[in-house]
Amino acid sequence: MVIRSVDELEVAGRRVLVRVDFNTPLTADGEVADDTRVRAALPTIRHLIERGARTILMTHLGRPNSQRDPRYTTEAPASKLAELLNVPVIHTDDCIGWGARKLAMDLTDGDVLVLENTRFHPGEKGAERTFAERLSELGELYVNDAFGTCHRGDASVAVLPTFFGGRRAAGFLVARELKMLSGLLDGPKRPYIAVLGGAKVSDKIGVIDSLLTRVDALLIGGAMAYTFLAAQGTDVGASRVEADKVWLAKKLLDKAKSLNVDIVLPLDHVVAPSIEAESEACSVADIEPGMMGLDIGPRTAERYSARIMAARTLFWNGPMGVFERPAFAAGTRTVANAFAESPGYSVVGGGDSAAAMALFGLAGRVSHVSTGGGASLEFMEGKVLPGLKALEED
Ligand code: ADP
Ligand code: MG
Repeated sequence: MVIRSVDELEVAGRRVLVRVDFNTPLTADGEVADDTRVRAALPTIRHLIERGARTILMTHLGRPNSQRDPRYTTEAPASKLAELLNVPVIHTDDCIGWGARKLAMDLTDGDVLVLENTRFHPGEKGAERTFAERLSELGELYVNDAFGTCHRGDASVAVLPTFFGGRRAAGFLVARELKMLSGLLDGPKRPYIAVLGGAKVSDKIGVIDSLLTRVDALLIGGAMAYTFLAAQGTDVGASRVEADKVWLAKKLLDKAKSLNVDIVLPLDHVVAPSIEAESEACSVADIEPGMMGLDIGPRTAERYSARIMAARTLFWNGPMGVFERPAFAAGTRTVANAFAESPGYSVVGGGDSAAAMALFGLAGRVSHVSTGGGASLEFMEGKVLPGLKALEED
């Protein structure tokens, strides 16, 4: 099975439907608050413009409950795109129907059109064939450059490409994600170390389970660490523990032992009585009753850094603490720095983890920061992503 790249398509003078991920956060006045996702699609869009294609972009934005909702219009990312490209960008008030068709047919070479939110129609989440067919009428070729939605079965991602036979391809962003993430699955250099953190064990069970069969060590931080520590019988005070997942953490610890994989848990913590009580933060080895672990402690951070520096392949998902608050950010920052300094092949995935790398100004210092949260985790689990499957040629 192969997935063609956008630069293998003959696009000059053709209407090219491109699924992008312009699901950007908006400010209270409806402006784009963070343009990372728009920028991420620029290489593909510029390529198409330069080749004389007629580019038709489609995206979802927010969760508009399958109907028109002015709060979730794609106008804001469309005007951000116009600003970044410094060319006019046309916007439709619906992604299907007569108006959209008329605008699509009237495009000339090099023009760019942004369709209204695909999620204004129930057919998008419902993966309806009829809806996909109506979208397909707008273009002659299909490109997917929305890696962050490739794990979903939505019509514009997983159904629409099937209307395009040999005239479909991955955009540069999707192609790069595939290449960089595949580097973690196919013959990784050893030692291979994964660092996992974040809010919940339950979000990450699949990926932990599959990483255990691939890595040499798993370094655990974040709230998830407390469920593992509880499973070992350690007192964790008022730290966030998923009581119904303690048995599962036990099972994962046993599995790791039998596979000879090192699961490394924090040996000290930054604690406070609550997330808001930043001024009372201090680092301890043992968590007193009533205290919450909100970051890995300095000794743990040091220890994790040393392992990261010695690794040749690295994957990180999930912050080590409540990094949004300066009092609990040190652990995440130390691990982020070690990722930046390590000579190993290093990939960071996950929305909050990517945000942390950006916050510390280190995103450009690792081999790859994945734009897909759920998509990168499912890829790491070895699952077939519906959006990628729909691009495959036999
Ligand atoms: P990602 O988006 O990278 O996959 P998650 O969504 O799983 O990461 O987790 C990120 C969240 O976990 C952050 O908002 C962070 O504040 C929170 N978090 C990390 N450590 C703790 C902790 N010890 N206690 C409570 N929340 C935590
Ligand atoms: Mg998250």
